[in-house]
Formats: sequence, structure tokens, C-alpha cells
Amino acid sequence: MTRVLLASRNAKKLDEMRRILHEVAPDVEVLGLDDVPPYDEPPETEPTFDGNALIKARAATQTTGLPALADDSGLCVDALSGMPGVLSARWSGAPRSDDRNNELLLQQLRDTPDERRGAEFRCAVALCHPDGGEDVVFGVMRGRITRVPRGQGGFGYDVVFAPAGDSRTSAELPPEEKDAISHRGKALRRIAPIVAALPG
Ligand code: IMP
Repeated sequence: MTRVLLASRNAKKLDEMRRILHEVAPDVEVLGLDDVPPYDEPPETEPTFDGNALIKARAATQTTGLPALADDSGLCVDALSGMPGVLSARWSGAPRSDDRNNELLLQQLRDTPDERRGAEFRCAVALCHPDGGEDVVFGVMRGRITRVPRGQGGFGYDVVFAPAGDSRTSAELPPEEKDAISHRGKALRRIAPIVAALPG
């Protein structure tokens, strides 16, 4: 059976990625970082999503010899000139907290009118092959920042992000509905045929 390592420690993101990959490449065994011996995970020092996805996937392949997938993603808000971007996870500083990130973002957009609350989630997924080959794909989900957090599902900024054409936040969507339109869903469906074709 073909095996691929998903180089992420974000449990909710891992669930999403496993679910989406399973749909498109059901014959691929997806391992997590807990399934391989621990190694020094490099810091995400690049200014771009694809740069950081490649840092994570390269380290995973070089250490384990397995083909490795990694994603890097974030929220880019029009009124904040594309921020928090690659800083999304740590927007309100240490220790990382989704609640504090959302509070800070809503505060920063307090005086921004509805018509200027556009934003998008962006995702880059990198696949590194043991022979040194690399593939990178992207996905985007457009929407807008709400005025108050809503919903129990998803993670991160989902409670304050309403996808384009929907009055619900992405935290109010059932998981399959989020996967169908999400930045990560789009990127993973683009990489899945390459994963499915990996040698067993
Ligand atoms: P990463 O783990 O370095 O890729 O950080 C991604 C960060 O971007 C997460 O911690 C969230 O704050 C945000 N993010 C990325 N994708 C999503 C999503 O699907 N929903 C909500 N927040 C997201």
C-alpha cells in the first residue's frame, strides 16, 4: 500500500486533510507525525505559504525517507493589506490562541464597514518525494469577516469568516460542506492524483 506522511501537528487540520485525501485517494495510507520517530521540526521562517509548506514537507521526507505532504495556510484580510497571512496562527502573540486571534482581528476591523470586510483563506500544499522531486499546489476560499464569532465547528478563524454567498460562518458549515469549498479542500484535491500515483 502507498504511504504518505502528513507533516502537521494541528489535530483539526490533520482530520480535515485525512478526510479529504481519503475521498480522492482511498488506497493511500496516511501517517501522521505521531506514527514516526520524533525529529527536530524546523521553524516556519519563510514569508510565503508555499515556502513554509516546503520547509515542513522537506524536513519530513529527509528525516523519514517517506513521501511527505505539508500545508501552510492562513487568512488574508483585504482591509489589513493581506495580513495576518503567514502570521495567522500567532497573530495575537504567544501563547497561540484562536480566541485571542479572533478578538484581535474583530477589534482591528471594528470601524471597517461591511463592504470592506472582504478576506480569503489561502493554502499551499507541498509534496516532497524521496527522490528529491517536489510538487506545490494552491487553494483559495473568498469570503468576509463577520462582526461577531459564530459556530462550533472548524478551527482558527472559522468562527469569524463567512464564505462568499453564504450567511453562515465556516464554523457553522458541516465538515463536508467546508471541505467542498475550502482553500485546503481545493489544494488537496489538486495534489491527490499525484499522491494516488506514488509508487507503493
Ligand atoms: P499553519 O498551521 O502555520 O498553516 O497556520 C495556519 C493558521 O491559519 C491556523 O492556525 C489558523 O489560524 C489559520 N487557518 C488556516 N486555515 C484555516 C481554516 O480552514 N479555518 C480557520 N483558520 C484557518
